[in-house]
Amino acid sequence: MTEKSPDAPAFDYRFDTLKVRGAYNPDEHNHAFSVPIYQTASYEMGDAARGERLFRQEELGFLYTRVGNPTVDVLEKRVAQLDGAVAAIALASGMAAVSHSILNLADAGDHIVSSPYLYGGTFDLFKSILPRYGITVDIAPSLAEEDLQKLIKPTTKALFIESIANPTGYVADIAALAKLAHRNNIPLIVDNTFATPYLIRPIEHGADIVVYSATKGLGGHGSIIAGLILEAGTFDYGNGKFPQFTDKGYTLRDRNDVYRGFLEVFPKTPFTARARLALLNYLGAALGPFDAYLALLGIETLSERIEKQLANTRALIDWLQDNEHVLWVDYASLPESPNYELASRYAPKGSGTIFTFGFKGSIEEQEAFINATRLFSYQVNVGDAKSLIVNNAKTTHSELPPEEQKAADLPPETVRLSIGLEDPRDLIDDLEQAFAVVFGTRG
Ligand code: PLP
Repeated sequence: MTEKSPDAPAFDYRFDTLKVRGAYNPDEHNHAFSVPIYQTASYEMGDAARGERLFRQEELGFLYTRVGNPTVDVLEKRVAQLDGAVAAIALASGMAAVSHSILNLADAGDHIVSSPYLYGGTFDLFKSILPRYGITVDIAPSLAEEDLQKLIKPTTKALFIESIANPTGYVADIAALAKLAHRNNIPLIVDNTFATPYLIRPIEHGADIVVYSATKGLGGHGSIIAGLILEAGTFDYGNGKFPQFTDKGYTLRDRNDVYRGFLEVFPKTPFTARARLALLNYLGAALGPFDAYLALLGIETLSERIEKQLANTRALIDWLQDNEHVLWVDYASLPESPNYELASRYAPKGSGTIFTFGFKGSIEEQEAFINATRLFSYQVNVGDAKSLIVNNAKTTHSELPPEEQKAADLPPETVRLSIGLEDPRDLIDDLEQAFAVVFGTRG
């Protein structure tokens, strides 16, 4: 909500302190120790003079919850601190975060370059929805620099990737791709949903914009739909390619009615300021304060949850790798993975709590296996405290035609597991009994 850096406690607290206390000072909130839920649509402006100051951006304060809310503000600033960002804006969903990050950079006639390894909803937005509004997206055949560079043209306004891809778990070379983007005078947007800032902090590696679905690991309990956009504060939006940040408008006029632009009024945080005042304000995908509160509660245990989920993930992978009903297990942190070096460099604690395996058998047997699980829940979500299973080719990525599923390394035998906080022995027992239902043997 404000132009200044996130509030106290300052950046020098470490990750685990910030995740429970960051950006919140009880003295400023009637000494409430838990972040209050400011369940209000609007705010008293006081008197007409203050109203004018607020509308001319001379005083930064809350006006209307669609554009800013004190509970949501703590979430925004806390996640910004965890990621080392200068500012953040929360939105009603991860898809709102993805779409707003693009719409803030690209107008009709503009172009985006992206990765083949994307969440199915993002892929569909890129291929089917944005082109209807004049924004075209080229999906590269791989994340190799030469493949991406070939697609960049004068109208290209961003490079969009996932740090740990959904569902393949591929880890991107963020630093190399940031350099590539910057050589072309465009920002790198990184969807860091699968990693969370506990596993990867993309801004440290050169990313300019980070987006999250906080629905997943950040929130961590499968109870909310929420998203965030973060900005590194280092990209030059005045480089001539992004007139939307320099064009002067009446909305940002000063006291003498001189028109101003976003870069001029918000020099440190132009991206999130524009995403809020020009997009969220008029497209309206605001996050409600109660959902922001639940996200904050979830983030309080982020490190502890992810650590235990990583240990569970490793236990499940060890067991599946030795199973006769399994064709392959794809997890970038496995030494035999072609992605191992990148995983070790960017996600040394582990490449996430979600992985895929190839089911050895027919599609009917795969479906019977999924139906036979009792503890794993059959859901399209990931990052819950409870373990989830899904057949991506027929669900989360079913909008991709077979050739695009192939390009995304998503064969029909793929089963995705999102590992929760249960006792790993119960999770293994569950898969064992499900294999036995289908094949008569436990694998
Ligand atoms: N980004 C990734 C990597 C996702 O996996 C998802 C959802 O699965 C999204 C974005 C969209 O998030 P939401 O469901 O919160 O809109």
